[in-house]
Amino acid sequence: MAKPNPSHPSDDMPRGGAARHATPKGRLLVRNIGHLVTMDASRRVLKGAWVLAEDGWIRAVGEGRAPRADGAEVLDARGGIVTPGMVNTHHHMFQNLARAFRPISNLPLLPWLAGHIPLWRRFTPDDLFVATQVACVELMLSGCTLTSDHHYLFPRDGAGDILDAGFHAAAALGIRYVGCRGSVNQPSDIMPEWSTQDLDVILADCDRLHGRFHDARPGSMAQVAFAPCTVFGCSGEHYRESARLARHLGARLHTHCGETIPENHDAVERLGSRPLAYMARHGWEGDDVWLAHGIHFTDAEVRRLGRARMGVAHCPVSNMRLGSGVCRVNDLRAAGATVSLGVDGSASNDSGHLLNEARAALLLTRVVHGAGAMTPEQALELATVGGARNLGREADLGSIEPGKCADLAVFPSSDLFSNGAHDPVHGLVLCHARNVDALVVHGRVRVRDGQVLGVELGPLLERHRRTARRFHDGLKKG
Ligand code: ZN
Repeated sequence: MAKPNPSHPSDDMPRGGAARHATPKGRLLVRNIGHLVTMDASRRVLKGAWVLAEDGWIRAVGEGRAPRADGAEVLDARGGIVTPGMVNTHHHMFQNLARAFRPISNLPLLPWLAGHIPLWRRFTPDDLFVATQVACVELMLSGCTLTSDHHYLFPRDGAGDILDAGFHAAAALGIRYVGCRGSVNQPSDIMPEWSTQDLDVILADCDRLHGRFHDARPGSMAQVAFAPCTVFGCSGEHYRESARLARHLGARLHTHCGETIPENHDAVERLGSRPLAYMARHGWEGDDVWLAHGIHFTDAEVRRLGRARMGVAHCPVSNMRLGSGVCRVNDLRAAGATVSLGVDGSASNDSGHLLNEARAALLLTRVVHGAGAMTPEQALELATVGGARNLGREADLGSIEPGKCADLAVFPSSDLFSNGAHDPVHGLVLCHARNVDALVVHGRVRVRDGQVLGVELGPLLERHRRTARRFHDGLKKG
């Protein structure tokens, strides 16, 4: 259990001016909660409940009559369903500028990737800013309070401090953000020379970003992870040195692994072993590593992942969209690995709705293993406690209980597509995914009446459309 931290960590953040927030002083009372899905150790669901937060931390949770509000800000949940803020553990936010990109709409992973990489030759920090803001608004409205972004696109000429824009964009909206400094150091048919960087440049930027933005304290709003893209774009030395630097600095490690069968075959041919063993040889084994997708593992690999307490970010919609396969969620969990959810990049989803991802995880697991293979509660576990664990935040996030951060998603009890549901919590997952009414991040109301505060959505979306068109048209001109 996290010890309540009297001061918000960003209060006196010595680095990363963009990540600075005013301290959420004071109390917040969320009352009139129809169903409170705590995700505590006994997975209690409280009815007619309330949550009291102070300076960003949960002080008390209860059923029945709420405590007196005395000077507290009051958020009326209107009989809705409150879950812990959900956690998105895999994304490529820049890709929402290539949603439903027709030339690659019907391709599997590798040709799909090769088909959209040429779009990004002249990608700038401003482009990442607008893409990140749209991605974060989508996520916040779908219940997410902590997201990662695996950004591996650094055009060799003029990439500059590109990922800084992601931190700035997320901070402006008040969502927690883990910038995964992605990287590619080996050109290939898929990732041409211009989209790669030398390893010393990559490691220097990892170090710089960590120094500027990473806040390791409980309640942190911004962290950095190191994230080589895949074994087909990154050398063994790249994996080894990234792990060495990450462990020296206390950062987590993220990469793609086991997404498709061709990648596994290619690794055996080129590297002499399957990707998981190859990465393990270069230091990528341990509970500070979480892998994106993790679909095509052997039984022995599943046992290995479990023994090492590694994490897997399950991205069911992307896996279905690209026809990649079905993650062995239950086998991985039974072995001891932690499974969380990721919406994945929006060129292969093509939306970023995290509650919908929980629904898709349930449905996809049932396709293979039957109707009893995943309950709605288990799907919500992946989205909350699983995500917090994979991002190293189980001590302060992932559940609603005293001592944890006040990160709350307030969903309406029903909508048109769930009206009359017998069990509202089951309806939240089984019915068409809905948006939040309200979202609280570290005790601050960031979404109210279904609107993200502090952003004018119309102009943002117009700017995003213009930016997307610029990339589409740029490709046509060659
Ligand atoms: Zn990915």
